[in-house]
Amino acid sequence: MKIAFLGLGNMGGPMAANLVKAGHEVTGFDPVPAARETAQGNGVTVAESGAQAVADAEVVITMLPNGQLVLDSYGEIVPAVTGQDVLFIDSSTIDVESARKAADMVREAGHSSIDAPVSGGVVGSEAGTLTFMVGGTDEAFSRAEPVLQAMGRKIVHCGGAGNGQAAKICNNMLLGVQMIAVSEAFVLGEKLGLDPQAFFDVASTSSGRCWALDTNCPVPGPVEGSPANRDFEGGFASGLMLKDLNLAQDASELAGVDTAFGRAARDAYERFVDIDGPRRDFGAVITAIESDTLNG
Ligand code: NAD
Repeated sequence: MKIAFLGLGNMGGPMAANLVKAGHEVTGFDPVPAARETAQGNGVTVAESGAQAVADAEVVITMLPNGQLVLDSYGEIVPAVTGQDVLFIDSSTIDVESARKAADMVREAGHSSIDAPVSGGVVGSEAGTLTFMVGGTDEAFSRAEPVLQAMGRKIVHCGGAGNGQAAKICNNMLLGVQMIAVSEAFVLGEKLGLDPQAFFDVASTSSGRCWALDTNCPVPGPVEGSPANRDFEGGFASGLMLKDLNLAQDASELAGVDTAFGRAARDAYERFVDIDGPRRDFGAVITAIESDTLNG
């Protein structure tokens, strides 16, 4: 298929490369020259602008930093497509409201769309093993599925427009709360004289088990692949976790739901990013709990 790909960054770059590997004809655009060069090296034809990239496309994929950029970009690219019933796939993590506005823009122009945010991080993007959470009509979902299969392993249809984003932010709110809870449990256990490995052996096979513990364990040692073993380099950046927790709080306010633990996690990551910066894996929050700097 002829696919346009906008946003060739940490996630989008490898996703576009996997589409090329699957035999698609991919034209990409990113304002950052280094991102364009890497994409070119991976077989992506680079365009001069978003509008130029989408001109002949049958499918348009966006992987951008936030909702406002997606809406601005759609303002440029939706009128620039020349095909009939072009399929727009937005895989950025954005607020539900913007996702629904973007879907309206596409529908009003006579085209189809899904929101399809992902989990799996840069590693999943490179390996082509992302999970896609999809919001949109049954028909748009069926059309998108073979394209998404070139970039991911699990593709879940979550309902109408915006529901992919709803699933993403609810999942990441759960993850943020769990990482703080897991970190507090390790710090308390150690203060009580418990060896972290012994606690891991119990909790990872007991009712406290969760991904933040058994896969992304915030203490070095028990889980070989965890960023804790490399001073929290790589992994899922604290700044991105803060972004998703803020999206969850915005959604909670709009929906009139009091997500108190989600709010506490957002506040904790806000303070943590102030102390430690946005770059390191979000499991590094344990270092602030250990040094008691999170509470000021
Ligand atoms: P990134 O900053 O590496 O990439 C975003 C790219 O979009 C940048 O290269 C930027 O130059 C480009 N861009 C900005 N405006 C553009 C425009 N108008 N047209 C074309 N390109 C444009 O970010 P990322 O880590 O690749 O994340 C992308 C999205 O995926 C975000 O919404 C993020 O929340 C989400 N996400 C990231 C991860 C992760 O682990 N990095 C995991 C899941 C979801």
